[in-house]
Formats: sequence, C-alpha cells, structure tokens
Amino acid sequence: MKIVMVASEVVPFAKTGGLADVVGALPLALEKQGQDVIIIMPGYKAVHNLKTPAIKNFQEGVSYATIGKNIRVYFIDNEIYFGRDQLYGEKTGDYKDNLERFSYFAKKALELLKVIKFKPDIVHCHDWQSALVPVYLKTTLAEDPFFKQTKTIFTIHNIGYQGLFPKDQLPKTGLDWGVFNTEMLEYYDQINLLKGGIVFSDLINTVSDTYSKEIQTKEFGFGMEGILNKRKADLFGIINGLDYAIWDPSTDKKIVENFSAKDLAGKKAAKADLQKLSKLPVKDTVPLFGIVSRLAQQKGFDILAEGIDAICKMDLQLVILGTGDQKYHDILEAMVKKYPKVISLHIKFDDALAHKIYAGSDIFLMPSKYEPCGLGQMISLRYGTVPLVYKTGGLADTVDDKNGYVFNKYSKDELNKTIKKAIKDFKARKAWQDLMLRGMKCNFSWSAQSKKYIELYEKAKTK
Ligand code: ADP
Repeated sequence: MKIVMVASEVVPFAKTGGLADVVGALPLALEKQGQDVIIIMPGYKAVHNLKTPAIKNFQEGVSYATIGKNIRVYFIDNEIYFGRDQLYGEKTGDYKDNLERFSYFAKKALELLKVIKFKPDIVHCHDWQSALVPVYLKTTLAEDPFFKQTKTIFTIHNIGYQGLFPKDQLPKTGLDWGVFNTEMLEYYDQINLLKGGIVFSDLINTVSDTYSKEIQTKEFGFGMEGILNKRKADLFGIINGLDYAIWDPSTDKKIVENFSAKDLAGKKAAKADLQKLSKLPVKDTVPLFGIVSRLAQQKGFDILAEGIDAICKMDLQLVILGTGDQKYHDILEAMVKKYPKVISLHIKFDDALAHKIYAGSDIFLMPSKYEPCGLGQMISLRYGTVPLVYKTGGLADTVDDKNGYVFNKYSKDELNKTIKKAIKDFKARKAWQDLMLRGMKCNFSWSAQSKKYIELYEKAKTK
C-alpha cells in the first residue's frame, strides 16, 4: 500500500509530546512490513537547525530527509508560518494565525503528493493540525481523479485539543460556508478542526481501546461524544507501541551505564547519577519517584498539587521534569524551597534528562486524569521503573497490579495512599525486584501494533 502520514510533529525532527513519538516510529514499522510510506510535516525552524539526518532542498517551499531504509520525510517550508521558535504558540498563548498556518500546511501537503506523483491508498492524519486534509479531500478535491482511490484515517491522540478558531477566519481555509454547520466544522459558533477530521475521514481511531470507549461519553468526550457516537461503527482503538531502538536500557547512550533484566547493576548507577544531578542525597535505600510530563491538569497535577506537601513529608525523593502551567511551576518551586533534600524540579524540555529519569527512578508517577495512551508508563516499564497510575485510558490498558500500581478513584487521598503503599513495598526488596522484572518483560512493540494499523488501512480501502 502507498501510505502518507501527515502530522505536525515527528521524532527526530520536532516533538512536544507523544504524537511525535508515534509518527516517528509507526512508519518505520510499516516499512519493515513492506509498505510504501512517506511523511509530510511542517519545516519548523528546529527542523532546519538539525544536523542529522541531513535536510535537503527538494523544490521552492519543500525540503526533505530520509529515515528508516527509504522513508522520505517532506517538510513544508514557509519562513513566515514555520520559521518560529515554537510549534504552536508561546507562553502567552497559541499563535493567533494557527488556522492559516495549518490550512497552508494541509493544502501544500496535498499539492506535493501530485508533484511527486505519490497516489496514496491511505492518507493517515493525526490530531487537529492535519485535520483539514480529510476535509479538503472530501470537499474541494472530491472530484479530483488523482485522489479517486484515496481513503483517509484520522487518529485522535488527545481529544482535549481541538483546534478552535473564530468563525470569521473560515475564508482563510478556502472552504465554502457550506461546511460551517453543526454536522460538520461548526462547534458553538466556532470552527472546530478536530470535528472536521472526525466527520470527513473514512475511519477514525484513537490510541487505546479504553480511550476509544471513554471519548464516546460526556465525561471524556470534550463535546465530541455526540459526533463520535454517530461514527461509532468507524471508530477503533489501537494502543501505541514503543520504539525500542530509542527506549532500551541495554543500548541507551543517554544513560550513565546500560542495564537489562539480566543485569541490573547499571540501574543502581543510573539512580545515583540522577540523584547527583538533581542535587538530592545519593542514597539507594530511599525510593526515588520520577515524573516526565507536561505540567497540566490532564496529567494529574491538580491532585498532585493538593497533596504535594504531605508527599514531601514521606520517606521518598521526587524528581520532576516538565513544562506547562505557571500555576504548577509556582507550587512545585515553593516545595523545592521547603524540601530541597526531597524534591528536585527541572522546568524544561530535555530529552536526555528524560532518559535519565526513566532509567534512574524506582517509581514513575503518572496520575493522569485522562490519558489517551501514555508513553511514560510504557517507557518506565522497560527501564525497570515501576509505574504508579490512575486507572484511565491507555494507563488502564497497560498497567495493572502485576507490573505496577493503579488507583481507582481520582483524588489526592487515593494518590497519596498508593504512594505510601509503593514506598512500603519498595522496602521489601525481593518482591520489589520481581515487580520490576515483570514490567521489564512487557512488550509494547510497534511491530505488533503496526500490523493492527495495516488491518485498519485494509478496512478503510473497503469504504
Ligand atoms: P503527551 O503526548 O500527552 O504529552 P505521552 O505520555 O503520550 O504524553 O508522551 C509524552 C512524551 O513526551 C514522552 O516521550 C515523554 O518522555 C516526553 N516528554 C514530556 N515532557 C518532557 C520534557 N519536559 N522533556 C523531555 N521529554 C518530555
């Protein structure tokens, strides 16, 4: 099959979250299954600052690189739209011209397919930033013979981010006002791009089975539950894989010493290294909790902030890496001042440090209020770091009491109670090591998951 992935972030070129990990890894696995895949993403400033892989000029406004064996990644370049430091916005808020930026991206991506004569069987789009692609294919390009055989898949990585814009910006998309109605792009008198992706794609999926059911409810649907219910027969859940070429403690070059289930000595070294660089007492007997996350309510920072003072009084250490809401920066910074020997905060996006935290922690805290899939818990499992999660979405599908800790009621009391239990168990060393080893054996590889995507593509072809 000829497959094109259209996405706004892709590892190793640009990343703000799990979306980039997925679109960086799934094509590699598809290529290994013999599929013909290309990727199209915006040519941000960060892309052009990369040294490897080499970025080459293709034509005016388009450059490219190669990943895997022979996967072309095309970058839609535009200095005004994409020559910026961030992908979607600054601290002060989202870029005001995001609708213009991502309409431009979608149109140019489709134009490029004709230039390179890549007639896709499947166009696989991800989240609101590429949602206009299926919309164009079913409206302005509906009669275009080039796309006659093309089917679209739309993956929802997080329904909490929908790409909402004032309706007076609709002309910027080049779409007719006919699409601005409640069955299509309109949502409470605004333009909703994610809704467009849901309505106009042939099939829809999200990144875990549990989340695919949750988003059909009022509690998790963020207003999309009605439209998703209508498309229930076309909605699927496929849990993400992990790219074990990047996330493997036995080969990871970003950690101080490699280790594996057979030889855990390097994990001790990783813990000491993390304690040192986090300016915490270097002690093996104290359980070290790690967090790598956006600092947002979604990730559980509301209940964590409520209970953090009590947590810091427990016999533990806590290292947090993340950026996000100022409110949580402030609360956590105050805790660092109060408990400098207990909690260490790194407010930044730092991939190398993330690897060190996954490797060096004993327990990975991920109490997300909702979690479409979540990669942090899967990564930590592989690194022998026991995940502690709230039972929701992909966390519910990957963590249970055989490989980690799961709490069922979303509250600070339940969270703190579960942390206490983990501390107690940590001190009983033998059982703890068994728990770690069971986690390290879990396998969330893309080779299995990519086969499920191929089945989904085959299903789309019959639509
Ligand atoms: P989401 O996409 O909702 O943010 P996921 O768990 O799906 O959450 O994926 C997050 C990815 O981003 C993981 O690979 C995680 O390691 C990484 N990440 C998150 N915050 C940071 C940070 N501050 N520095 C480095 N990596 C981070």
